Amino acid sequence: MRSKTLFPYEPRGNQKIIMEHIDAALEKGGHIIAESGTGSGKTICSLAPSLEYALKHRKKVLYLTRTNSQQKQVIIELRKINQQSKVFGMGMQGRGNMCPLLEERPDLRNGNAEELSKVCGDLKKASADGGKGCPFFSKLLDFDVEGLAALAREKIPTVEDFMEMCKPHDICPYEANKILLKDAMVVTAPYIYFFSPMIRRALLDWMKVHISDLIVIIDEAHNLADYARELHSRDLTVRGLELSGHEAMEIGNPRLTQGLDINGACTLFQDIVSATASEYVIEDDGLVPPSEIETQLMSRLSSTSRDVQLMLMNMVTHGDIIRETRRKQGKLPRSHIFKTACFMQEWMLLEESEYAKLVCGGENTALQAYCLNPALATGILKDCHSSIHLSGTISPISEYRDSIGLPEDTDCLLLPSPFSKDNRLIIYAEDMTTRFETLAMDKEMLPRMKKLIREILENIPRNTLLFFPSFSLMKEFADVANDLGRDVHFEQQGMTQDELMTTVADFKLGTGAIMFAVMGGRISEGIDFPDRELEVAILVGIPYPKPTARQKALLNYCDRRFGKGWEYTVKAPTVRKMMQSIGRLLRRETDRGVAIVLDSRMAQFKTEVPEIRPSTQPIKDAREFLDRQYDFVNIPSK
Ligand code: SF4
Repeated sequence: MRSKTLFPYEPRGNQKIIMEHIDAALEKGGHIIAESGTGSGKTICSLAPSLEYALKHRKKVLYLTRTNSQQKQVIIELRKINQQSKVFGMGMQGRGNMCPLLEERPDLRNGNAEELSKVCGDLKKASADGGKGCPFFSKLLDFDVEGLAALAREKIPTVEDFMEMCKPHDICPYEANKILLKDAMVVTAPYIYFFSPMIRRALLDWMKVHISDLIVIIDEAHNLADYARELHSRDLTVRGLELSGHEAMEIGNPRLTQGLDINGACTLFQDIVSATASEYVIEDDGLVPPSEIETQLMSRLSSTSRDVQLMLMNMVTHGDIIRETRRKQGKLPRSHIFKTACFMQEWMLLEESEYAKLVCGGENTALQAYCLNPALATGILKDCHSSIHLSGTISPISEYRDSIGLPEDTDCLLLPSPFSKDNRLIIYAEDMTTRFETLAMDKEMLPRMKKLIREILENIPRNTLLFFPSFSLMKEFADVANDLGRDVHFEQQGMTQDELMTTVADFKLGTGAIMFAVMGGRISEGIDFPDRELEVAILVGIPYPKPTARQKALLNYCDRRFGKGWEYTVKAPTVRKMMQSIGRLLRRETDRGVAIVLDSRMAQFKTEVPEIRPSTQPIKDAREFLDRQYDFVNIPSK
């Protein structure tokens, strides 16, 4: 039995098992992936043993979260630990969230991490040289940080708390936070702080730790592969090319080669991107043959590959001059010309086995270099002492392990949900589907599905979430809850976080409220509905990925690399999306809920979700289940 010096609670069932496995992984300097359902206390179960090990062996812990808001839970648990054994930890967020100067300088607000870092660096240098730099940094230079550090050690503040602590002193919380990081045994930060090489180098420096002495914990790990692919993907939009052309005109449109200026080059690129889209886009996107863009460029310019390279280098130089000029003026060091030319250079040198060259259609046509191999970003985890990957829905674990490039001997721990299976019923209709071919041939399918949904809503007046595979399918069903006398809410594309949270709060407050949402969206993946805030989930179809060119490229890549294209790129993400949606029903031990899947293809997921069963009378089955759980005396019957 492991020692539990830092675990601040009496460990329950699975918690002991998780901690023992983490202990073993830490002892051998290995990696562990743990799937354990909501309510199993994954945060504290990973934090306590990691800290114990770190304290004994002079390591440090980096707890990575997908969003800034998820850091709060880590800090709450750390405070519990800190009450009994003084252990200091801090949160970290980007300048975009922490820099108080941005309130006075709206022109800097949309700067990315690299741009803000350069502007900040120049301002700090000016402050240090006694000039007019950043007032918040100037104040910090004369500030005694030790008092603040002592307060932080005592309080273990969240990033937001720490910003409030700095406010009365008018000092920069970002820079003050950096100073304190060297004393922290635990730092919690968003994924980007570890997976972006530039930011990682800076963070490890501030923490005063070598990567081999770092224990990395990854929260919500099921998001990591997609996140890493996005991080390494690049695109060049027609809009970006227009901006490059405008930028060229602002600096006098310099000549690149005999007879070609920068604006002319940007117009040429636009023509080529548009022509490529016309040729290869099928529905959303299309694969671009390996040398297509270079060939078109050489042919239209009547030049050699070397001439094209020289032209792009020339463009990069002009773009860099623009960036430096803007930087000297105290503006964001940004150049559209620079970005365009770098993209074209990278495109021509792309490692075709790791990237797909795509062209995307739609309003803002674009070339996209899509990263197929998330391990290009996540492979660095192998350099850490250990990494601990946590999720409530990560199965199949081998897919996750292989995709992000963890070694074969990684401990894959699959723990059952801490909630009783009896609290949840998952049934599916065998005579319905949203399969594309069926919908095209059977015009009665959608009306029949709508009729059943309406009957479910009429007969089970409990808070109900309707989950759809896409916003477009959701639209087809938008009128299904009309005139029922129940509050109806919709998740909408492009909603701000505030709008979304207001909609969700209204739904939660309702009695028998209905909400429409998409699987894989912010509601299905990130919102808790404890108690009776949600009792029925209706999944209208199976959220298979759309067969886009990008999806096919990913499937071929996984077939080539692991021999499991369909399992890894279709089945695994589909199961995760469904289970995340269904998972909204049970957030606490006492919660109860019914999931009704309106798609016969659910039968294909029996291995992954053994408890599913077909139902010819879903309303009756759902009511009987809920009757057993709650007093349904007042439910009207049809
Ligand atoms: Fe912003 Fe702080 Fe940098 Fe000043 S020193 S620019 S306040 S991050």
